[in-house]
Amino acid sequence: MRDRKEIEQLIQNSKHFCMVPWVHLHVTALGNMSPCMSLLEGSEASGYGSLNEHSFQELWQGERIRKLRLRMLEDKPSFNCKKCYERDSIGYWSQRRDSNEKYGKYLDWVETTDENGYAHDAKPVHWDVRFSNLCNLKCRMCSYSASSAWYEDAINLGQIDPEQETSKVRGVENTEPFLQELEEYIPYVDKLHFAGGEPLLLNENAYILERLRHHKKFDTEIKYNTNLTNLSHRSKNIVEQWRYFENIQLNVSIDGVGERCEYVRKNLNWDKFLKNIEIVKMEKNVDLIINITVSIFNIMKLVEIHKYMYENNYINLDKICINLLHYPEFYSAKLLPSEMKKQVTEEILNHLSWLRQQAPYNDINQDYDPESLDQWESVIAYMNSEDWTHLIPRFFENTAKLDELRNENLLDVFPELRVLNEHQNKGMGALK
Ligand code: SF4
Repeated sequence: MRDRKEIEQLIQNSKHFCMVPWVHLHVTALGNMSPCMSLLEGSEASGYGSLNEHSFQELWQGERIRKLRLRMLEDKPSFNCKKCYERDSIGYWSQRRDSNEKYGKYLDWVETTDENGYAHDAKPVHWDVRFSNLCNLKCRMCSYSASSAWYEDAINLGQIDPEQETSKVRGVENTEPFLQELEEYIPYVDKLHFAGGEPLLLNENAYILERLRHHKKFDTEIKYNTNLTNLSHRSKNIVEQWRYFENIQLNVSIDGVGERCEYVRKNLNWDKFLKNIEIVKMEKNVDLIINITVSIFNIMKLVEIHKYMYENNYINLDKICINLLHYPEFYSAKLLPSEMKKQVTEEILNHLSWLRQQAPYNDINQDYDPESLDQWESVIAYMNSEDWTHLIPRFFENTAKLDELRNENLLDVFPELRVLNEHQNKGMGALK
């Protein structure tokens, strides 16, 4: 038995301790169990192991998670947790701090952790599960590992070998025993995060909702990262299934308006997508947030997307989450030539000034997440942090290959990207 006071101190004041290995279940789209989604990109190898080789229990009390628990108890930093430390240091939301605040109440589970890191009382109460890469879209910046719809394109581009990769869908191969093992934890679940692939297509997610209903866990916080192209599952209306729950958060991906979105998020039908937005925004228990992945495709139209969604009454102004695309590097916003970066910087700064005069930002009595403003500044900082114009040829090369496969033409849809072409060629002849 560990000293309770020391554990309280760790939870409240440590810079490195994190409750995650006692309370959190994270499964990646490749079927691996891993500490959390905040781990540094490419840290998959530092996960707990594959659910295709081990049972949940084996991994939950396995060597890797036990080592992580002991490391947390020794208050030692981990390289892979760098993102959380950085966010903590500038006062942003971090999964580490959030977990300690929300789940510090389970300190008994930490207290009874033995000298080998076994925590027999620990239970996953916060789930972030991606059972597979099953998806109906093949977004430009995505890949086969995250979307099954990419399979044929990935073969045609020579990214995967069809002899090695014989299945479109990857993930937890046999979900039944895994779900059976999870059943005993359903009464304890506090928060669920479904992502994918496309989570609204997955049988397992529908099954978990059913089990939550069975256990009357109607107050569970349920969050989806979804493309919102599909609102029925096995002829059941998904929105009707959500009505049993008090708190559904939909983070809906949108990377452009109209045909721009259809180009980046291939297979999406813009009109149907908007109809689905109309449907879900009518639901009182649904909190709708748009997720924009900032890339070279939309950096010059970022403000336009936000205003379009607001002015057409799809969202409130603070209901936006901006993700910076880091990979593939040749799709990064850093590719923009410096004169265009200046224009975009000015446009975002003007937008920020305008935002500060609008609700909820203009009213100190209104509750809003300050990060919803700060993230605009992060875009400016990220875009201007490096000059990646040398990657413009790779951008055009990769884009042209996909355009040919998909019978599309970048510059027909994004005429403003001619500036990249001009910057690259300077007298070498322009792309058609
Ligand atoms: S500190 Fe952050 S990255 Fe590390 S395990 Fe906790 S939540 Fe995950």
